[in-house]
Amino acid sequence: MKIGVIAIQGDVSEHVEALERALVQRGEEAEIVTIKHKSIVPECDALVLPGGESTTLGKLLIREGIADEIQDMNTAGKPIMGTCAGLILLATAGDEQVAKTHQHLLGLMDTKVNRNAFGRQRDSFETELELPFLDSPYNAVFIRAPGIVDSGKDVKVLAKIDDMIVAAEQGNILALAFHPELTSDTRVHQYFLDKLF
Ligand code: GLN
Repeated sequence: MKIGVIAIQGDVSEHVEALERALVQRGEEAEIVTIKHKSIVPECDALVLPGGESTTLGKLLIREGIADEIQDMNTAGKPIMGTCAGLILLATAGDEQVAKTHQHLLGLMDTKVNRNAFGRQRDSFETELELPFLDSPYNAVFIRAPGIVDSGKDVKVLAKIDDMIVAAEQGNILALAFHPELTSDTRVHQYFLDKLF
């Protein structure tokens, strides 16, 4: 098994470490590869799109020819997890800010996102989130977090804060507005790995 982590920009090493911890805990082995260039995504069985700056990430994914490979991976039904900026990139539509900057989205998930849903006054925060696949709350870290404002019928909403969707799933895709790689709790990465093993 090979798990790819897009490593163009953002919190890459934290995801690699969280995946490694989660694999050890479940007694499974997989190779984790960081991806900066094309031709590696097609070899992967699962993919993580980390947080970072979604405009930069989107541009570089296209420039490096990785965006098309991710589309193919999705068509093949392989597990893909997008966190924070990753959630933005997975969406089919964005807010005015996305439109104004002609930001490229991968459009893999039937969602509309607000890039900075939690505004300045709540730039970064932590909260105990109830997730349907966990039996106790998850301490979720939000950093300049986006949110899903609208979603299609194939999207399963997993968690909301006020009216904003902060965790959702569509088939093989898992999208999270928070950063599961920044806490020692590996349960969200485990849930993602459940789709692979
Ligand atoms: N809101 C940021 C963006 O638009 C994402 C923040 C993050 O990934 N921590 O790119």
